[in-house]
Amino acid sequence: MFELMVESTFSAAHRLKTANKKCERLHGHNWKIQLFLSGSKLKRTGILLDFKEIKEKLEEVVKPLDHQYLNEIPSFKKISPTSENIAYYLYQKLTNLFAKNKKIKVAKVTVWESETTAASYF
Ligand SMILES: [Zn+2]
Repeated sequence: MFELMVESTFSAAHRLKTANKKCERLHGHNWKIQLFLSGSKLKRTGILLDFKEIKEKLEEVVKPLDHQYLNEIPSFKKISPTSENIAYYLYQKLTNLFAKNKKIKVAKVTVWESETTAASYF
């Protein structure tokens, strides 16, 4: 099995309902997104999928989040915009975008909200 990884970033604000009072106040993060794709069949050229194509699709789903107040985005009105839920949200969007390509699978999306903390959905 082969695995590819492409990164992107976005900056946005959110508020969380948690036991941690700090997170309840409006604050922002510079999120780093890692998209992992897997597949076992390489093209004749020796690649699984062009990194440029992966990057374009990743940007298509990440850009709408950039410089937004995440709590106001319809998808996050009912579910809290935690890193976990952002990972789940992006995983679903990316799985739809790559659905036509039967040779690859969205394996995992990891959302880093700081340099030392991250959440993944796979
Ligand atoms: Zn936060």
